[in-house]
Amino acid sequence: MDKRVQEFMETVKVRNSHEPEFLQAVQEVAETVIPYIYEHDIYAGKNILSRIVEPERLISFRVCWVDDDGVIQINRGYRVQMNSAIGPYKGGLRFHPTVNQSVLKFLAFEQVFKNSLTTLPMGGGKGGSDFDPKGKSDDEIMRFCHAFMSELFRHIGHDTDVPAGDIGVGAREVGYLFGMYKKLRNEFTGVLTGKGLSWGGSQIRPEATGYGAVYFADSMLKRKGDEIKNKIILISGSGNVAEYAAEKCIQLGGKVVTMSDSSGYIYDKDGINQEKLDFIKDLKNVKRGRISEYVKEYPSAVFHQGKTPWSEKCDMAFPCATQNELHKEDAETLVKNGCICVTEGANMPSTIEAVTVFHKAKILFAPGKASNAGGVATSGLEMTQNALRYKWTRMEVDEKLKDIMKDIHASCEQYGAEDDGFVNYVKGANIAGFVKVADAMLAQGVI
Ligand code: NDP
Repeated sequence: MDKRVQEFMETVKVRNSHEPEFLQAVQEVAETVIPYIYEHDIYAGKNILSRIVEPERLISFRVCWVDDDGVIQINRGYRVQMNSAIGPYKGGLRFHPTVNQSVLKFLAFEQVFKNSLTTLPMGGGKGGSDFDPKGKSDDEIMRFCHAFMSELFRHIGHDTDVPAGDIGVGAREVGYLFGMYKKLRNEFTGVLTGKGLSWGGSQIRPEATGYGAVYFADSMLKRKGDEIKNKIILISGSGNVAEYAAEKCIQLGGKVVTMSDSSGYIYDKDGINQEKLDFIKDLKNVKRGRISEYVKEYPSAVFHQGKTPWSEKCDMAFPCATQNELHKEDAETLVKNGCICVTEGANMPSTIEAVTVFHKAKILFAPGKASNAGGVATSGLEMTQNALRYKWTRMEVDEKLKDIMKDIHASCEQYGAEDDGFVNYVKGANIAGFVKVADAMLAQGVI
């Protein structure tokens, strides 16, 4: 590791020693951004990166609610308001038992760079709770969301901080959260994105992260004169991002052979077509079932319990479940099996060692902060429509999303292209995201 990066990381480790995910995210950025800072005098002596790694505000609060048996439950809620140099804090809420300060700080830190890349005026934030929605009744979900918002409402607002969904927070949860915010504030504003279409939501928002990731992969392939058509594709996850990444791959003629959840993955040698994908959407979003049930409906498919899909042969991979789900050995297997393109739908699904394997093999690799930025970009479009009190059509929003993903790809190329023509998309995304935030921080002075 570069000595300057090492020294910087030592100082970050002292302050955040029990936050491994956060340190991982910071290191990945520091490795590419610190050399750039040293090459550009305007940043000298300004401690910009040291300021960016410190959240502007971190709120932690108690959430008490009563379950269906009348028992009082206690969870912990958080909002990390990381950086507001270029706009109001913006980033999702995650409800999952693994949520803690480290996970949310890593996500909020990534969000700062991602939001900057979208070209829209949005700062970075993230929040959530260690609440586990699995197995809870609809009434319990509603009571928890209302209790969570009864504290969060005082810290957010359409010009301050605009949360959205993430793992465990979909349309249903956004509805309950929005309802309580509206009641407490007595105002109907675009304080959350991912809202229902009839009450302020945007067309294409549910699809945007998955579709956007595939648009980004398409741009990477096109640059090499290639296309998604006829490619064998592995997808992990079966939530929002995975479902719509699969849908767009299918529409573009790709053959998706795997999807997964935290219990394992299904392999369908015949490919998951739109009809089969509709079954998965209904299974996961309406019936709230498990991916293993796919093989009962489609017996030619196989379920692999407790495993991730990376050992299957493929041309392309889209990790769309969660952080650190793709390790060094998985990356080596993917490369050995001929995979030419890995596009992150999830946030930081590949470990640092896995990314090194992809870079050494010089295959196409897109980091989540670039390739999954379509979700927050469309949230930005939802905020614009709310402010205008106007609605764009599905086609208008999809066209804007495509343009934004093309622009992000171009920014990554601008800062990440190497002499031999290879594009290091990690370097490109980190530097492009950094420059805009850093320049705004310089302009605003030491605050
Ligand atoms: P969902 O809750 O809709 O789906 C998450 C999926 O990942 C589910 O299939 C879930 O399985 C699986 N999963 C979650 N945790 C684990 C785990 N520890 N191990 C294995 N599988 C797991 O979430 P999203 O699709 O919204 O989010 C997925 C990823 O994409 C996250 O990293 C998120 O931060 C990122 N992202 C999401 C955006 C969005 O717009 N929604 C925007 C940008 C990034 P199970 O059902 O068993 O829990």
